[in-house]
Amino acid sequence: MAQWARPAIRALRLWGPSGELAWARRLRSAGGRPPTRLAAGVSSVSGNGGDSAKEKLSLQDVAALIRARACQRVVVMVGAGISTPSGIPDFRSPGTGFYSSFQHCDVPYPEAIFELTFFLHNPRPFFTWAKKMHPGSYRPNVIHYFLRLLQDKGLLLRLYTQNIDGLERAAGIPDSRLVEAHGSFASATCTVCRRAAPAEGFWAAVMGDRVPRCAVCTGVVKPDIVFFGEALPQRFLLHVVDFPTADLLLILGTSLQVEPFASLSEAVRSSVPRVFMNQEAAGSLAWCPRSRDVLQLGELVDSVDRLVALLGWTEELKDLVQRETGRYRLGALTWAVSPGPAGTGQVQAGALTWAVSPGPAGTGRYRLSGSNTGCQSWPSGDGAGTG
Ligand SMILES: [Zn+2]
Repeated sequence: MAQWARPAIRALRLWGPSGELAWARRLRSAGGRPPTRLAAGVSSVSGNGGDSAKEKLSLQDVAALIRARACQRVVVMVGAGISTPSGIPDFRSPGTGFYSSFQHCDVPYPEAIFELTFFLHNPRPFFTWAKKMHPGSYRPNVIHYFLRLLQDKGLLLRLYTQNIDGLERAAGIPDSRLVEAHGSFASATCTVCRRAAPAEGFWAAVMGDRVPRCAVCTGVVKPDIVFFGEALPQRFLLHVVDFPTADLLLILGTSLQVEPFASLSEAVRSSVPRVFMNQEAAGSLAWCPRSRDVLQLGELVDSVDRLVALLGWTEELKDLVQRETGRYRLGALTWAVSPGPAGTGQVQAGALTWAVSPGPAGTGRYRLSGSNTGCQSWPSGDGAGTG
């Protein structure tokens, strides 16, 4: 995150030391407990104005509003729940969560790996975790592509995500429509001289089990994800204009426990329908419901499927998912490998180009990574082919 953005955001006290990061916490059980309120100075973003439409809405009604384009400035808030179907493990599950893997490391308590003071003391545990979050380790799922469809249809005003897995970008949501409230791995900054560090060099070090260092001052390079106690990215301030002008709010896969993110759910006008899809009721939608709220509780994929069906988008979404995931079926493509130095080279399939480097020894597989103009980033992955 740009250093210059910090003072302004700190002045608003948007992110206090007691703040908790959604991506670093297990979704809690049912809500009912009001989250900590936004600090004074930003409370005015909470919208209670608007007209007094009071009729109770169903999901079908909301779908009809979208179809009639009566709602076309849709703001979406998402949390860890939308990435679970992509296989991203939660942090805290005993035995399987990421936190478990730190039990044998020199970490005083799991959350320490996301604290700046510990990171500067010992960045290795963080990078051990970061390696697992390498772009391409996980792929967008049908929920991400539903959001992409909203964007393709010109209905998405902004997508606010608490996730740092980058799957919204990977699904093709453009930067201009995205607010990664807790940062992302898309950029990295030297912790000493604050220079931006190239992503390629950062990932090359991380994947090679090395701590990434600044080319200028050799300081440790940290990806621009928000650690405990750090300010949120400047783009988060877009909420000041987005929420009061939204005509529909979709809240997917978040228990609304993390401030200041959670309070955004109250920042739309009272006349604006809020559709909340989550495992269980939570946050202000549980303890302070509005007349035009629509709750869809249970499996998130099922809830999204239902909305998609009501919208009549089922086939279109299926096509989009097939088209996008087809890009990843590297093994089905015919490769032309041009050899490079020390076993590296390029793989080309049509207009697409990947860098290729040897995969695990003895497996006869390659590791691919690369980009082309039609797509922001391509996943890396092991593949077998003829060269
Ligand atoms: Zn530096």
